[in-house]
Amino acid sequence: MDSAGAALDDRLPSDRLLRVTAAQWSAALVWTAPDGTIVGANPAFAGLAGCPLDGMIGRSLPALLDIGGRDWQTVWDRAQGEHPPPGSGTLCLPRRDPVPVDLHWQHLADGADALLLCEMRCFDERERAEAVARLQQDVLELVAAGRSLKQVLDFLCRQVEACAPEVTCSVMLRDDENRMRVAAAPSLPGVYAAAIDGLAIGPDVGSCGSAMSRGEAVMSTDIAEDPRWAPYRQVPLAHGLAACWSNPIKGRNARMLGSFALYYREPRPAAPFHRRLVEACVHLCALAIEHDRARAEINRLAYFDTLTGLPNRQLLADRATAALALAGRTRQPVTLMFLDVDRFKTINDSLGHAVGDQLLVEVANRLRRLFIEGDTLARLGGDEFVALLPGCDAAHASLLAERVLACLSVPLTVADLTLTPTASIGIAVHPDDGMDFDTLLRQADAAMYRAKQAGRNRCHFFRRDMNEQAVRRLEMEAALREALDRQENGAAGEAPFELHYQPQVRLKPYCLHRVEALIRWTHPRWGAVSPMEFVPLAEECGLIDRLDSWVLETSVAQLGRWRAAGVPVPGLAVNVSAVRFARGDLPDQVRSVLAANGIPATDLTLEITERLMMTEEVGAHDALDALHALGVTLSIDDFGTGYSSLSYLKRFPVGELKIDRSFVKELDIDAANRPLVRAIIQIGEALGLTVVAEGVEREAQHRMLEAEGCAIGQGYRFARPMPADALVRWLAGEGKHWVECPADACFSI
Ligand code: C2E
Ligand code: MG
Ligand code: MG
Repeated sequence: MDSAGAALDDRLPSDRLLRVTAAQWSAALVWTAPDGTIVGANPAFAGLAGCPLDGMIGRSLPALLDIGGRDWQTVWDRAQGEHPPPGSGTLCLPRRDPVPVDLHWQHLADGADALLLCEMRCFDERERAEAVARLQQDVLELVAAGRSLKQVLDFLCRQVEACAPEVTCSVMLRDDENRMRVAAAPSLPGVYAAAIDGLAIGPDVGSCGSAMSRGEAVMSTDIAEDPRWAPYRQVPLAHGLAACWSNPIKGRNARMLGSFALYYREPRPAAPFHRRLVEACVHLCALAIEHDRARAEINRLAYFDTLTGLPNRQLLADRATAALALAGRTRQPVTLMFLDVDRFKTINDSLGHAVGDQLLVEVANRLRRLFIEGDTLARLGGDEFVALLPGCDAAHASLLAERVLACLSVPLTVADLTLTPTASIGIAVHPDDGMDFDTLLRQADAAMYRAKQAGRNRCHFFRRDMNEQAVRRLEMEAALREALDRQENGAAGEAPFELHYQPQVRLKPYCLHRVEALIRWTHPRWGAVSPMEFVPLAEECGLIDRLDSWVLETSVAQLGRWRAAGVPVPGLAVNVSAVRFARGDLPDQVRSVLAANGIPATDLTLEITERLMMTEEVGAHDALDALHALGVTLSIDDFGTGYSSLSYLKRFPVGELKIDRSFVKELDIDAANRPLVRAIIQIGEALGLTVVAEGVEREAQHRMLEAEGCAIGQGYRFARPMPADALVRWLAGEGKHWVECPADACFSI
């Protein structure tokens, strides 16, 4: 054998060269003649084979590797190709255990002098089997732990790349439109992944598209040459990806799920170990993808409405709870918009459920377009939809509701019928209308119900100030206006307004000081409406001038009639709103009404509130002076409840203070009120002002006021406010007790 080696040595310079260089090589190298006879080897091969180098020369390599004659020919032929496929085998030597090896073939020369170089790397089969088993176990654990599909597949790719550093992995998914989607490709260049993401799957679309389309593995040993890569090859080649082996991933019933691919950095086929890896990975991928789909389906059924695909009540509740918790921290508003399709039941019952369903789907689609990311549009069931709008305040919600109503009311055709859907909307806003989801939902539902009642196709806010109160105020304003018109025009029937008069009694000695005119309004539907409610409203909507003018005219005229009839009413107090003073014509009106009824100005007191005293309006100040100049008494009503500064008492011509009811109310119960009342009386004394206590109900209050030196009392203890004719009867009867002194002691004409 040595002689044959020597003979070859002489003929083949390449053999000599090989011997020299291979001696330095750490991998085992052996080279053969075309028939497989070993003509040379390096020391590493001798080490692997476990026998001296000389002993190997002349032996048959195919025999040592247990490769049959035909297979040896195939090896030889393939090695002549540009990228000979690597292989694996077992090196069997006498008196030695077989050694598993990876084999790489290289053809070295042409013609009769050709040599076949074989590089052998021994591997531990058990080690590799263990690596694959570990990989399988780790991936299954991640799936079981509920990690996302992306996390699982990324992990799988990285593990494969760790086991076989010569490859780069990718997993593609097939979407519903038969396009490929990159599910995991942690080591592929981002540009390349972006370029292939979304490509339509087809029989000649690179390796992955082709594998998914054909349902079988596709090996592109050289992307540069493979026609399937023709339109796509530029990007992978530019990023050093030269070969690709893609395997289809199939689920149950052979459903095509995606592909698992290995990329190589040089043109080449897949190695046997890669085949084992891929076999395991394709299986793992199928499992992970199907698990993910099942989970998504369960999730969809649990949290989404099957008809419209919108979130259901459960998901809405979850998201609302999270949004409200966050809003509590950031102090942001959260709006809940409750929408109910108008007359849906009629459509459903008369046109059938199929039409009803189509209508609901269309409504859902229209609504979906109006909301932004972060909002949640849910279907609660039936024809009820709810939108959760974090960060949206009442003003925004009302704009949005308008858009919703406009967008819904566009006609649509269902089963040859033209329907114009409308809806009623109720809105509740956190935190004003409720802190938790259930409360807000209930309030929004209630608001929606009121929108239905008000005529449908509209939006109502739950908030009392924007809804119930606003409605009542609007109604009351209209009713007040109408009542004033009727009153002023002297329309037939019951007069809407009436004046009651309440006596003010001088306490020492008892005598009638004057009467206060108090307005009463009886509404045909609401009955008696308190002046505490409609007077402030009249002030706000500009009706107070007309109201107070009517009271002034009517009460002064009444005083005139009493006097003409000899009824001893020494004086009259009329409440005048601060707003009324701003319109400078009050003194003129007072002057003329007094003159018209023959009443001296000194018999008239105007009760005004502290608010007027604080105004900077020059017109109001002039009016106060003019009225004082006329001789009219100005009385500060509800004294002590308004402003803390008392300096106005010196600046304006005030003649009287009325201690507010709230101080008198508890005078005999809460001792703390007594010093307050005493202080007010002392202020009055110091400034020369008459002090009137209002709201005197009990004898104990009466006695205390008397003891403190309060001059005048008004309240149920003496008399309730009463109509003009009742006052005449009171004076002649019950009132006599309080009107001891002769009428002319108090009453002068
Ligand atoms: P005010 O001017 O302080 O009138 C006294 C209020 O106390 C009256 O209520 C009267 O009925 C009530 N009152 C009298 N004695 C007692 C008592 O012993 N106990 C209790 N609890 N209450 C008593 P009313 O008539 O409901 O009037 C409420 C307010 O409406 C008045 O308070 C006044 O500010 C305003 N108002 C009434 N009539 C007019 C009017 O013609 N013009 C204007 N601008 N305001 C008016
Ligand atoms: Mg008053
Ligand atoms: Mg008062």
